Amino acid sequence: MNPLEPGDSIPARGRILLRAAASIDASRAIAPAAVLVEDGRIVATDSPQVVGTPRADRIIDLPSEIVCPAMVNAHAHLDLTRLGPIACDAGFDAWLDTIRTRRPTEADDITEAVRAGIAASLRGGVAAVGDISGDRDLVAASTFAESGLAGTAFIEFFGIGRREMAAVSAIRRFDAGPNPVREAPGFRLGIQPHAPYSCGPSVYAAAAATARPVSTHLAETPAEAGFTKTGTGPFLDLLQRIGGITDDTGAVAVSGRHPIDQLLEITPARPWLVAHLNYPSEPDEDANARSGRFEGLARAGITVAFCPRASRFLGHPLPGHPGHPWRSLLEAGVEVALGTDGMPCLDTPDRLGTLDEIRLLHEDARDLDPTTLLRMATTAGATGLGLDPAAFTLAPGPIAGLLAIETDATRPIEGLFEGRTPPRWLLGPDRGIAAGGSSFHRVAASSSDTMPP
Ligand SMILES: [Zn+2]
Repeated sequence: MNPLEPGDSIPARGRILLRAAASIDASRAIAPAAVLVEDGRIVATDSPQVVGTPRADRIIDLPSEIVCPAMVNAHAHLDLTRLGPIACDAGFDAWLDTIRTRRPTEADDITEAVRAGIAASLRGGVAAVGDISGDRDLVAASTFAESGLAGTAFIEFFGIGRREMAAVSAIRRFDAGPNPVREAPGFRLGIQPHAPYSCGPSVYAAAAATARPVSTHLAETPAEAGFTKTGTGPFLDLLQRIGGITDDTGAVAVSGRHPIDQLLEITPARPWLVAHLNYPSEPDEDANARSGRFEGLARAGITVAFCPRASRFLGHPLPGHPGHPWRSLLEAGVEVALGTDGMPCLDTPDRLGTLDEIRLLHEDARDLDPTTLLRMATTAGATGLGLDPAAFTLAPGPIAGLLAIETDATRPIEGLFEGRTPPRWLLGPDRGIAAGGSSFHRVAASSSDTMPP
């Protein structure tokens, strides 16, 4: 089934009663459910008995669909959308090297790739994206800005060793502007130091000093802590291969500390959004190191963007390491959002969204209240991107986008997670509402690959 064929959506104006197999958001799952929508705002979401028979211009029956808010993809690389799957057989550093050399570099190619990523995001039911925009000419960020989707284009910087101070200067220049990308409510330019093995501590400090949204890859592989603690391992080899980074002895100065501890020493104006966090501690550290870091992340208001499918694709957890700590992070009070990472890691070449992430996560979380997974796919990401979490719920008020997803009518809540069907837009995404406003500039979420207006 295609997401949103023209005419499939509910009218943006008028009072519409949806009678669905179920509804779910970050706080409630209801089956069967009635959702009353007026002029694109949620008026009520509850059981059919509670909602009763209110005045409505139209009643729409969705007997085999579950209704939920539009989702948030807290960590994506839209410019990698057209690369296709890239196997990770030769190790992460070699994989990263392949991505680095194959990512588009010409303006037209970047534009096309990001447009493909936006179209795939719409097909994935996503209204807001935290995109890592790789190119320094801001082609990717401009393309994202024009799309109408909400979120942040995090401009990525690399700089360690001999290149560290150049990256610091580049961040300061970028922040001082001017730049060609128009920011708007619901869309911002942020800064992303790439990772602790490719950016020295002063690059992180420079990003934090800008007052822009800040993001980074953090604790993605065990080798990362090995590198920041000792300056050795496969990441040193990678930096040596790239060239122009190491000193005369082939070394790079490092902080000597775990990447999470290193990050927690820097307090930005807006809390960090950190991707991955697959390895929050090392096998030789005691449990206090791990729990202390979780407390530090919670205290700092940091949102972790966990990418379950990418994590599995890249072979995490590695043998001898525990699985991703997302449950422990939630228990410690850390906001855990979901991301997709780039298309080269994914099994859904036509769509890019966090619905497919919660479907994977649910396989190991059947004991968990399903609203927790919805929270990770919606409001947690909105918080991490500085958007209005309430706009990503079915609570009364403006909604940043509304989806219907085909499900098992006899088990409509579980069916959401067990199916493979794509979401269908009932109300297209609205950047202004995602930002906490009440505008009506919904993006036409068509099934074609053309850019939304
Ligand atoms: Zn990433």
